[in-house]
Amino acid sequence: MLGVLGGGQLGRMFALEAKRLGFRVAVYTPELDSPAAQVADHVTRAEYTDLDRVAAFARSVDGVTFEFENVPAPTAATAAEHTRVRPGGPLLAIAQDRLAEKAAFARLGLPIGPYAPVRRAEDLAAAASAVPGKSVLKTARLGYDGKGQQRLASAQELPQAHAALGAVPCVLEEFVPFVGELSVVGARGADGSVALYEPFRNVHADHILDVTTCPAGLDAAVVHDAQRIARALLEGLDVVGVLCVELFQLADGRLFVNEIAPRPHNSGHLTLDAHVCSQFEQQVRALAGLPLGATQRTGGAGAMANLLGDLWQRGEPDWSAALAIPGVRLHLYGKREARPGRKMGHLCATADDAEAAAALVVRARAALTAGHAVETAAQDPRDGWGGGSDRRAGASSSSG
Ligand code: AMP
Repeated sequence: MLGVLGGGQLGRMFALEAKRLGFRVAVYTPELDSPAAQVADHVTRAEYTDLDRVAAFARSVDGVTFEFENVPAPTAATAAEHTRVRPGGPLLAIAQDRLAEKAAFARLGLPIGPYAPVRRAEDLAAAASAVPGKSVLKTARLGYDGKGQQRLASAQELPQAHAALGAVPCVLEEFVPFVGELSVVGARGADGSVALYEPFRNVHADHILDVTTCPAGLDAAVVHDAQRIARALLEGLDVVGVLCVELFQLADGRLFVNEIAPRPHNSGHLTLDAHVCSQFEQQVRALAGLPLGATQRTGGAGAMANLLGDLWQRGEPDWSAALAIPGVRLHLYGKREARPGRKMGHLCATADDAEAAAALVVRARAALTAGHAVETAAQDPRDGWGGGSDRRAGASSSSG
């Protein structure tokens, strides 16, 4: 019996892979009818701060992993008193705090862009002189998918931006003029073995991952550098489990580390369809103490396109239209309520090369709503937001 903290789509895909390998799965989540709970054998529905329930959950399983990094420290510590928690140790604390993350990158000698800490208002002047030009101010904690971020044309805007973010501890990053965004997903087993996927190429829209393709069309030296960075993080942070590192690719071929996620990552979803072993299977294997699986692509290339709640704006997407395209596969997360920006599912396709695979998923996604424009013209405009009044963005526990 394997346990997962968190009920989002990452927990769901972990559970599905675990079940394929013959495990039973227990999910711990405060959410009602969560994506992971729908496919689990056992569900504990309780708050993460209910440490008695956390302890009972941990005792009932042979190991615990998590599907979001903002698991409160006392929750992880309590679970670790009763069973193995993987990844464990200080990794969660590092991944929860951008300032701790930067310090860890520096300690490991990894390349990062210029930045300055803004822990309190007194740091504003020093930060402004360290990063005077175009920049991004990010809250140190609890930011994802562009939430908790402000773009600054110059440091003159810093006091205002810091106030807009609630004057909480932040990091001021110089704007990186990247030519591309990459990620490397890797896993490390209990025996110290490391398995790395090739780098993925990511395109964001409104700060949210939009399309991932692989292979990323990189020179061998850049692939090597990206994988070197991922390995250094897996080994240097003593990870047993899956980790993703997001990278900025500069015009001269250099890479800067942006951030890490100590879990499977949205950009790695295409490993379910395009690689021998998926990132979720690696998570299962690492947690259970099994050998890691092969990370090779099974065919020429793969691509993934996210399906956000916006696609439901004019009613249910036309699944048949997408599935009629050969090579396209659909993954839906079982979320009842479609909200703008909410990750509801993804499409994946394989093809001979990355451009062809990307074209397939983008075409399939467009086909989902191609009929809506016609319908809208013919009918009264309608809201069609999938029912319910709760439209809070990002209510899902995982950033994916
Ligand atoms: P993050 O939440 O840190 O992954 O940031 C979300 C997205 O904002 C990234 O994927 C980039 O597209 C963009 N971004 C973040 N930090 C920077 C930066 N220092 N320079 C330029 N773009 C950035």
